[in-house]
Amino acid sequence: MTPIRRQYLKIKHAYPDAIVLFRLGDFYETFDQDAQTASRELEITLTSRSMGKNLRVPMAGVPAHSLDSYLARLIKKGHQVAICEQLTDAAVSKGLVERDVVRVVTPGTVLESELLDQGANNYLASVVEDGDSAGLAYVDITTGQFAATQLDQSQLVPELERIAPAEILFPRSQAHPSWTGGSDNGSAIARRITDLDPSSFNLQDAGHALLDHYGIQTLESFGCQDLPLAVRAAGAIVNFLAATQKTGKPQLAALAVYSTNNYMALDGQARRNLELFQGGRSGDKQFSLLSCLDLTKTPMGGRLLRQWLGQPLLDLERLHRRLDAVGFFFQDGFKRAAVIQSLARIADLERIMARVNGGTAAPRELKALQQGLELVPSLADQLKDPIEGTGQSLDWPDKGAAGPVGWLARSLAPLPDVTALLDQALAAEPSGAVGEGNVIREGFSSELDELKQISRDARGVIAGLEQRERERTGIKGLKVGYNQVFGYYIEVSNANKSQVPTDYVRRQTLVNAERYIVPELKDHESKVLNAREQIEQLERSLYRRVCDQVSAASGGIADRAAAVARVDVFSALAEVAVRQDFVRPALDTNGAISIEGGRHPVVEGVLDPGTYVPNDVDLANDGPQVLVITGPNMAGKSTFIRQVAIIVLMAQVGSFVPASKATIGLVDCIFTRVGLQDDLATGQSTFMVEMVETAAILNRATPRSLVVLDEIGRGTSTYDGLSIARAVVEHLHNDPRLGCKTLFATHYHELTELAASLPGVRNFSVAVAEQEGDVVFLHRIVPGGADKSYGVHVAQLAGLPQGVVSRAWEVLAGLERGPAQRSADRQPPAAQQMSLFNPAQPLVDELKSLDIPNLTPLQAINLLYQLQEKANGGGD
Ligand code: ADP
Ligand code: MG
Repeated sequence: MTPIRRQYLKIKHAYPDAIVLFRLGDFYETFDQDAQTASRELEITLTSRSMGKNLRVPMAGVPAHSLDSYLARLIKKGHQVAICEQLTDAAVSKGLVERDVVRVVTPGTVLESELLDQGANNYLASVVEDGDSAGLAYVDITTGQFAATQLDQSQLVPELERIAPAEILFPRSQAHPSWTGGSDNGSAIARRITDLDPSSFNLQDAGHALLDHYGIQTLESFGCQDLPLAVRAAGAIVNFLAATQKTGKPQLAALAVYSTNNYMALDGQARRNLELFQGGRSGDKQFSLLSCLDLTKTPMGGRLLRQWLGQPLLDLERLHRRLDAVGFFFQDGFKRAAVIQSLARIADLERIMARVNGGTAAPRELKALQQGLELVPSLADQLKDPIEGTGQSLDWPDKGAAGPVGWLARSLAPLPDVTALLDQALAAEPSGAVGEGNVIREGFSSELDELKQISRDARGVIAGLEQRERERTGIKGLKVGYNQVFGYYIEVSNANKSQVPTDYVRRQTLVNAERYIVPELKDHESKVLNAREQIEQLERSLYRRVCDQVSAASGGIADRAAAVARVDVFSALAEVAVRQDFVRPALDTNGAISIEGGRHPVVEGVLDPGTYVPNDVDLANDGPQVLVITGPNMAGKSTFIRQVAIIVLMAQVGSFVPASKATIGLVDCIFTRVGLQDDLATGQSTFMVEMVETAAILNRATPRSLVVLDEIGRGTSTYDGLSIARAVVEHLHNDPRLGCKTLFATHYHELTELAASLPGVRNFSVAVAEQEGDVVFLHRIVPGGADKSYGVHVAQLAGLPQGVVSRAWEVLAGLERGPAQRSADRQPPAAQQMSLFNPAQPLVDELKSLDIPNLTPLQAINLLYQLQEKANGGGD
């Protein structure tokens, strides 16, 4: 076995789960099983290499300069990759070159921009369970965001769905975690799990890892001293980062310990049904609420808006602060425009900093960092009040930096040291790789400038030599050239060979020319080459020093980046609000929701301008609590109930809302359920899914929740569906734990009866105009239930052949004449409804009135007998 083989095996032994990319000169090689995997996944040739007597091992390699793209492919296929570098210079080291792994790349720890979506965070999460509780932590090492919480088991999946981590750390020995199979996208979660040795989650070690990482004395600094599960999850992340990011410890912001109770609960269903991040039938990003609101200009702002949409607030004070900031930009169009213009020129400060800290930032990125940081103070100027100092009065009581965005202006202070350093150190347009001499600005290092001067002079001499030798020898076609093997040479074509002077030394013979050298040429050549080598080394070390200095300021830069992100989101939300005519919502905690002229922002954007029909809504726990909305297909029921939920959500994000006036009593949770929607991903039956989800709502909602039900009960036969739908509404209305505000769209117009018996239920329908047998949907929500379902009209509108439509009218007329011809699929006409719901009522009333404690067993038996008689139809 060769020494190199021994070295490789030792390293591989330490990284059994990763594909080890082993640096050998200009290549990264893989061996053995890794080579087979790599050759398959990367479509590269599998060869073999002799590594000792009678030992050939499989080998597959990629050129070092294209590491990023190969790395990207391996990570996308779900592999972990350990990058093993040469730590000593092969040219100078005696014997075996030292090698070790400098970084383990996993889906949750990538820094390469090819693997990152700039509009979304790339999270590495960690989960640990104990009984009914769980600890959850997540980090984005490309932005430094780090958060941890301790929560109820039941909240774990919704929270993981919100975070959508690229990778989840989980202790290995625990049984397969229950939560990976529970949810509808549980299997997707399971695929992202990385098993870790359970000791990483050990409370003491985890706590120490956190304290060490931040160099602090007590976990009280983060307020997690009493949240052992949160500490264990967060500590496991720190341990994992230490093991994978060997060089360049990621710069993490202070651990944000949070409680899911401080945010509106939104599960995966709600996110999908309200199309927050993915919209339209194809589920693309284009028709989502995010895409509709996202006018942010920086990647930081885009990511922050996405975070906010996923995590609406419950805190009036924080919401008012956000709304004030949006209002500031809403009112002042000039400032908004100026700020937006500046923002458009600011690069991804967060991710550039992550690469600076990780030692992989390119010179152009560093330049972009400089330009971004230089714009920061000008942003701050825009946030200050212009009238400050002029003595004029202001709209708001506090002046200048104390205005609605003064807090932001204060966090946008300039960083003169960093910008000056970058300005002095970096060339105006750094080009090429570090070491080629085009990265560091002239004047930054006299040593470097001297070397460059030497190199320039020597090259000048060489260039001048061509002209001089042409004149001396009289050979017109004489050329000075350069190649890798022979260095500088003088080339003379065969025709002029005889004129070559005697001091020329022949070096190389080509087909039609000879190449020579002269001592003077070689003299200057060695100057050039020496200088080049020194320039390369010096530029590298200068660049590294600059990066280190910038790195040392990463805390301050991260603060500016976070403030830029906020300015971006506020100004973007203001811009949308102006463009789409949103208003500032009034927020309170009174539990009522009142919207005038509400619109669905995404649907409105798709329709012709001015054609969207606005609608009002009033909901209150002690007033109109359940709205039953009936109306024909395609009338606008689904759009209406979603629009209410979306307006509430937008208000609780701190955005203005698409309405002419809105008063929103904060909601702790939005539940949605849509019937007749196949969950193809998990292969569950539609109806089963529907019922499981409905059960979840009934179990989890509180009086402060908003429940949006769209056509539930539709996934089964008419009677079943109708009965379930009715029972669900009754329960939502009656159960004292619930009583939540509910919007219920249904094509079962029989449900309009509920309003008669339940005081909190109100009927609404979508107005329809009939013109000469054609229906026109007015999209206007009006009080009162729908009287018919217009199904055949819709079929006609949809373009069913005229013959089919006429026949449908005939059949419908027959059905409406009498029950004898009724088909099982048609909704029950009035007589049937009576028997469905009304006969039970007297029985129920009687049951309720029974004084059970005072009944003798015999009386009870008799009563039971009588009740059964009645139920069997034996008279009343
Ligand atoms: P339903 O749920 O009653 O079957 P939808 O809510 O799906 O109907 O709406 C059907 C279509 O009607 C929408 O795609 C949209 O184009 C249009 N629509 C809905 N509401 C409105 C409205 N308020 N103004 C204008 N068009 C609307
Ligand atoms: Mg609908």
